[in-house]
Amino acid sequence: MTSKVTILPENLCNMIAAGEVVERPASVIKELVENSLDAGAGDILVEVEGGGKKLMRVSDDGEGMSRDDAFLCLERHATSKIRAPQDLAALRTLGFRGEALPAIASVSRMTLRTCGNDEGEGVEIYLEGGTVRKSQDLGLPRGTLIEVRSLFFNTPARRKFLRRDETEIGHIADVVTKQALAHPRVRFRLLHNGRELFEVRRDSLLEERIGAFLGRPLLRQLVPVAEGEPGDLSLRGFICPPEVTRSSTGAIYTFINGRYVRDRVVQHAVLEGYRNLLMKGRYPVVVLFLELDPAQVDVNVHPTKHEVRFRDQGRVHDFIAEGLRRVLKPSPGLGVATPPAHPAPDLAPRPAAQFHASPGAAAPADQARERVHEALVQYERRTQAGSAPPAQSGRPPAAAAPCLAAAAPDSGGFFQNLRYIGQYRNSYLLCQDGDDLVLVDQHAAHERIRFEQLREGYRRGTPARQALLFPLVVEFDFKGAAVLAEHLDLLTKFGFDVEAFGGKAFAVKALPAQLAEADVERLLRDVVGDLEQVGKSGAAEDVLDDFLMRLACHGVVRANQSLAPAEAQALLKALDGVDFKAHCPHGRPVQVRLGLTEIERLFRRG
Ligand code: ADP
Ligand code: MG
Repeated sequence: MTSKVTILPENLCNMIAAGEVVERPASVIKELVENSLDAGAGDILVEVEGGGKKLMRVSDDGEGMSRDDAFLCLERHATSKIRAPQDLAALRTLGFRGEALPAIASVSRMTLRTCGNDEGEGVEIYLEGGTVRKSQDLGLPRGTLIEVRSLFFNTPARRKFLRRDETEIGHIADVVTKQALAHPRVRFRLLHNGRELFEVRRDSLLEERIGAFLGRPLLRQLVPVAEGEPGDLSLRGFICPPEVTRSSTGAIYTFINGRYVRDRVVQHAVLEGYRNLLMKGRYPVVVLFLELDPAQVDVNVHPTKHEVRFRDQGRVHDFIAEGLRRVLKPSPGLGVATPPAHPAPDLAPRPAAQFHASPGAAAPADQARERVHEALVQYERRTQAGSAPPAQSGRPPAAAAPCLAAAAPDSGGFFQNLRYIGQYRNSYLLCQDGDDLVLVDQHAAHERIRFEQLREGYRRGTPARQALLFPLVVEFDFKGAAVLAEHLDLLTKFGFDVEAFGGKAFAVKALPAQLAEADVERLLRDVVGDLEQVGKSGAAEDVLDDFLMRLACHGVVRANQSLAPAEAQALLKALDGVDFKAHCPHGRPVQVRLGLTEIERLFRRG
């Protein structure tokens, strides 16, 4: 019998490695830019066409390679960064596995141009599917250029999984953003289809980079962090006070020894630092650099090196969490200094104590609650008087009645004919139906109403829209901007009117009428976070419902919110205007009924 086991050919090994290392165009950019950084580049140009599916080109002014090295680096396990096992414990470079270039080459058409001397004696190599097809000596300046065309041309199954250009360039911008944040001294340029997406200049400050990538308004609110001693364990960077939050963890940028990581322990520690300062479901904005002895952290856990393993996980966790708490919390005796509403831009590091935010994010919650109250009362007035509501500042009178104004038949309807008794624990509406006691969960009810109204507007193609008097401009990071750009049409169908405003900025001109009371900027940021989330799940209808559910949550009446009888009745009435009243969109029941016999049994009567 002939042997059935064989050693795979080199090129097949590379394709298998590519399966791990090269997930999408952005992974190619990550590897190429890391190589440029490892080569000491001070200027990195990233050019992309067609979301990276057509072309990616990364050029740098780094140390370059000799002719021999240029050929060698295309071999599997060829690296200049480690030589012996002990080097793994002292890594100072981003790369070390020596598999990126051969892996990328194996699934694309790649050109490598490099020169490692000042005499201009360079070389150009062209490969197809990992096989060298052409090479020639070429006069070049010192540095390296790598061009990757037709990614996955020889693995159609993987090519099929690539998303729209906007999505892919969003991921690419995200990757370059992270690298540019970690290397403020390096100039980065990103071009898509010849158009410049961004350029950040050489020798910048980290603060400037944060402003450029996360939005200038953020600059005023940054709180510097400087904990621990360089050499041992240290944490440097900037964080935002608890008032500045996002709906996802997307603005938590953490780096370990200059490498962007999305580590569970680090992320948990950051959130632990903000514990009790953020509302549920809100996440902070942080850009943090953890430095520690390379021997204390193993980055060789995953081919893309996004995860790490700490030798002393507990120590690192507590160091981060306690460090952040110290910065965020007033030290005893200093008192709580609330930052002024609009402090002047000032990038000079200040003692942390001056930045202390008032603990607890109670203020925004209160405001939201007030707005809901106002809306409910207005609705009630309007339906009683049959007149339009008074215009709110910045907003014209509503064309369609916002909030709870479902097209409820005025007379009939189960809920509005209940006898409202009162509110229990500021959370449940007690009502009487004949001899039965009916309890309505006010939060679940309001969410259901929102959900159905939004879905109905979407289905009929007539979403109720509320125009803003003054369009509000909101700036996003690149990924957010890309996601939003891709979904503008979808948002229109829900009643939004959002337009690209140049760069990463978007102008909000109208909102779904049901959400007219929401904080516009926060709503839009959350929507973008939600779109990133829902994009990942399955069937279109599910995605839609999922998105609607999240949308429906904005500014609804909460549990633990006292409602005036008129407000409670408005809520009950609005429930009659929607279908499927039995459950809130999350599947919890909206109402529970207790019969007289059940109640009497509790009292051992009858
Ligand atoms: P690794 O980065 O893990 O060493 P790669 O396959 O990414 O493996 O690169 C192989 C080698 O090619 C690197 O170790 C480096 O010596 C060389 N190299 C790659 N890109 C560049 C570049 N832009 N400038 C200079 N040398 C490079
Ligand atoms: Mg590399």
